[in-house]
Amino acid sequence: MRLVLIGPPGAGKGTQAAVLSERLGVPHISTGDLFREHVTRRTPLGREARRYLDTGELVPDHVTSGMVRERLAQPDARHGFLLDGFPRTVPQARELATVLGAAGCALDAVLEFAAPDEVVVARLSDRGRPDDTEDVIRNRLRVYQRLTAPLLAHYAGILLTVDAVGPVEEVTERALDGLSDLQRRAG
Ligand code: AMP
Repeated sequence: MRLVLIGPPGAGKGTQAAVLSERLGVPHISTGDLFREHVTRRTPLGREARRYLDTGELVPDHVTSGMVRERLAQPDARHGFLLDGFPRTVPQARELATVLGAAGCALDAVLEFAAPDEVVVARLSDRGRPDDTEDVIRNRLRVYQRLTAPLLAHYAGILLTVDAVGPVEEVTERALDGLSDLQRRAG
């Protein structure tokens, strides 16, 4: 399975990605986690990415794409993956299609985790990551609406919207049920 997870910050995307990756037996690839690792290790990429993470802006595509290409080229991602946080813009989605097309494959589905603003803001203020301050949260929500939400129309043909409000296990079951339906319909 080649899947992409989309959702506003605080929709529980990362939590669901970790659980779904285990249930589906495919690696969980989170660009946010990859950037945070680079920042912690103080690599050149981390030094460049840091100011964007700190303000909630998107890291420029030339940095992000190289990192994702490298990760997708690793053997564990050959037969499937769950991308969490990438693509986040329509140009990134085109880039992904090019990478996959060159390898003779394509995405199976895009899962949207949908949750109202008041739910995501409440969840984020519980989480305590350094980029979870009020200003940065507000900016990340703005960036999501402006740059990432247009991906939902871009992926309309393979989009599966999951209600992300409720206990983690219930949301996981909704996602897995939706994926089974999608596969059944695809034949
Ligand atoms: P996340 O862990 O997905 O919430 O991402 C944390 C931060 O990493 C974001 O606010 C961005 O600064 C950066 N980031 C993660 N994924 C991407 C991406 N696909 N493109 C650009 N920046 C990203």
